[in-house]
Amino acid sequence: MDAKAPITQDVLTIPRKLPEGPQNLIGLSRDQMRDALIAAGTPEKQAKMRVGQIWQWIYHWGVRDFAQMTNLAKDYRAMLADRFVIELPEVVTRQVSDDGTRKYLVRIAGGHEVEVVYIPETDRGTLCISSQVGCTLTCSFCHTGTQKLVRNLTAAEIVGQVMVARDDLGEWPVPGAPKDETRLLSNIVLMGMGEPLYNFENVRDAMKIAMDPEGLSLSRRRITLSTSGVVPEIARTAQEIGCQLAISFHATTDDVRDKLVPINKRWPIADLLDALRDYPKVSNSERITFEYVMLDGVNDSDADAHRLIKLIDGIPAKINLIPFNEWPGAPYKRSSNNRIRKFADIIYKAGYASPIRTPRGEDIMAACGQLKSATERARKSKAQIAQEAGL
Ligand code: SAH
Ligand code: SF4
Repeated sequence: MDAKAPITQDVLTIPRKLPEGPQNLIGLSRDQMRDALIAAGTPEKQAKMRVGQIWQWIYHWGVRDFAQMTNLAKDYRAMLADRFVIELPEVVTRQVSDDGTRKYLVRIAGGHEVEVVYIPETDRGTLCISSQVGCTLTCSFCHTGTQKLVRNLTAAEIVGQVMVARDDLGEWPVPGAPKDETRLLSNIVLMGMGEPLYNFENVRDAMKIAMDPEGLSLSRRRITLSTSGVVPEIARTAQEIGCQLAISFHATTDDVRDKLVPINKRWPIADLLDALRDYPKVSNSERITFEYVMLDGVNDSDADAHRLIKLIDGIPAKINLIPFNEWPGAPYKRSSNNRIRKFADIIYKAGYASPIRTPRGEDIMAACGQLKSATERARKSKAQIAQEAGL
């Protein structure tokens, strides 16, 4: 980023390896784990095999205690316990919506908190995970964008969200039990807090761990990364992650998109579409999801629908219409159901799938763009209580 478009502020990035104290094995790639084991005295010849064993214990069986890694010698387990930890974010609160959606508030180093949402559906279970605390981009319809403080999550904190959700769903395999192929947590979407492509390396490393066939083993086709349009990182996403891509498109003219998604001033619609044209080829994915939030009187006209179809011509695409989820003080209103249906119809008739996203977990403020607000509310009332008590 150069100085002319001050879209990002400084983002606090946690060093990957803390200089002292036991090292967390979560979040390390296989190569990094190998190096760490060698540095701890594992003979080089054995290191690859040890990584394979430990990896399976952690990511396949969900084991957190070195003592349970029974195919390792006892003194080796003791050495591991001395030098390493297996540490996940801490779940602070867990809420379950009437529709079965679960929202977890998890605490990470530094006392920061992020939200993780699990959405059960008949044919899948999707976990919506966060990549940053807050977001430096200031999309005007998004509550996360109103938060000031931003910190990049580490790879451990990103893959850790998947692991704590599996804990809560009771989904780690049990040795000896018959294989159960129906997974409660079958899909991941990077659609929680933050812009994943502003934290590329950590997101990539975490997703590589989630995709590893000897561990969590989630297919790249079941992982969707949503970006507001960080154009230079899109090709890298195809090459280095290869997951499904969703774009927060939301407008059909640069004038409107500049206001809704300010990163558009830096990488306007034409540049974004150019980057997207190559994505399916390079990533070998089928189609790109265009997310489009329906804002009353702003971006929801018939003319918008027709322009959208023209713009994406030639890109294998599906358009996901998201009814705007309101949050306290939001400057927009949700388009009416009739308007959304009419918009969807125009797109559908042009040959694109145009599902309308059903807001899930609204009663627990778990819907798109609402994340963090409940926590902030809780904080505010706590502060208020303190004030009233004269503290
Ligand atoms: N930063 C990334 C991913 C997180 S946002 C991105 O912007 O793509 C996930 C999706 O929720 C995005 O499409 C975003 O535009 C949308 N969203 C944000 N606030 C919303 C709101 N209040 N109502 C509906 N969708 C919203
Ligand atoms: Fe950030 Fe995405 Fe929200 Fe925009 S929509 S402020 S990029 S989280």
